[in-house]
Amino acid sequence: MTTTTTRRIAQALPAPAPHWVGDGFPVRSMFSIHGQDSAALSPFLLMDYAGPHRFEPDAGGRPRGVDEHPHRGFETVTIVYQGELEHRDSAGNSGRIGPGDVQWMTAASGVVHEEKHSATFTREGGTLEMIQLWVNLPAHEKMAPPRYQEILSRSIPSVKLADDAGAARVIAGRLGETRGPARTVTPMDLWDVRLNPGASVELPVPDGHNSILVVLRGDISIGGAAIQKHQCALLDATGESVRISAGDQGATLLLLSGEPIDEPVAAHGPFVMNTTDEIRRAIADYQAGRMGRLE
Ligand code: MN
Repeated sequence: MTTTTTRRIAQALPAPAPHWVGDGFPVRSMFSIHGQDSAALSPFLLMDYAGPHRFEPDAGGRPRGVDEHPHRGFETVTIVYQGELEHRDSAGNSGRIGPGDVQWMTAASGVVHEEKHSATFTREGGTLEMIQLWVNLPAHEKMAPPRYQEILSRSIPSVKLADDAGAARVIAGRLGETRGPARTVTPMDLWDVRLNPGASVELPVPDGHNSILVVLRGDISIGGAAIQKHQCALLDATGESVRISAGDQGATLLLLSGEPIDEPVAAHGPFVMNTTDEIRRAIADYQAGRMGRLE
């Protein structure tokens, strides 16, 4: 006879109020190392959830978004649910991502980039809904060359959950025999989960990983504790699975689970390093143009 331990909720975070990032992204900061203990979130640093927000058509308008800015020491992961975004960076990468697509940018030693609504979305208007997740890098990867993965929706496998409970798109990591396309530096799972109304599911989460459930739509309960729309649940660290029940509206959630990076975190704006000396160097390098420029 085998015994498995089911994770419980260690902490439920309150639903945050929205604020604007640039002129294009009305976001809720779902969790952040600036609000929570970074060791409990590691390797994840923060998550912003933008929208759903309706933008009117703006023919001839300048695309809204965030102008040129740097990053160093971590990765930005952008998941689009609705709308269309364009990105370009100083490493020469650019791309346009729409519903279901993911952009996984490893800033590492540094990039300068801009993040905007696409020209088409600006002209035609529509609803924007997206996530940006920041993922930390271990010290030995913080100064590696920047990389970029554009992961289109069609390359992300969807796993049908048992008992017609719903489906999980595996962006990163492994669910059963299904592996996600994202290449990650440290071991992690990132799943986009849809649960049918009233459904229950038991999902595997590796013992010892920090695991976070982010509820975007609907509501769920874990071990009898309710987690409402726009709330996050940080799970306790021991156990191999989590049992989630959806409310009568069903639920859309992200499950993040990762091996903690056991290193100090020094964060300042768009830079996440291990020491304040490294933060000072990042600021100086950016100001001297050593993270490159947008052409
Ligand atoms: Mn950025």
